[in-house]
Amino acid sequence: MPVEALQGSLHLRHVLQASIQAFDSDEESFEEGIEMLRAVLPDTMIIAALDLIDREGVMKYKTSWGRHHYEVLGTISTYTVFPHLGAASTAVSSYCTCPSFAYAVLISENHLVCKHVLAVYLADRWSRCVVRPIEDDDLLLKFAGHVSP
Ligand SMILES: [Zn+2]
Repeated sequence: MPVEALQGSLHLRHVLQASIQAFDSDEESFEEGIEMLRAVLPDTMIIAALDLIDREGVMKYKTSWGRHHYEVLGTISTYTVFPHLGAASTAVSSYCTCPSFAYAVLISENHLVCKHVLAVYLADRWSRCVVRPIEDDDLLLKFAGHVSP
């Protein structure tokens, strides 16, 4: 990726994170946050993410040792979302196992995130995740793909 494109992407990511932080519990900040999001993400993605949250599709699994694992129930499948990869200097700071993340974010770089990642960001911010405890062994099995939700 050229340097300018990388800087552009870092800037957009900063705007995205600022938008998420802008959301507070009152209605006014909700409108404001949505406006900010619309500057960096398509309307359809924002609406789709809000819909996922409304349908209680964002699952947050908590292990006994305080680790979180996120899954989003999509229309055809369940996707695993890693909202914070923690690599500040790379173009991609999150990851989702859905096909559109691979195509639109990683390959064509058309989008910063997919609707599942956005849904996790917002649901976490609003405490709207469906929180479930999970045993460490089950988490390992989930990673291995042996457990369906
Ligand atoms: Zn996704």
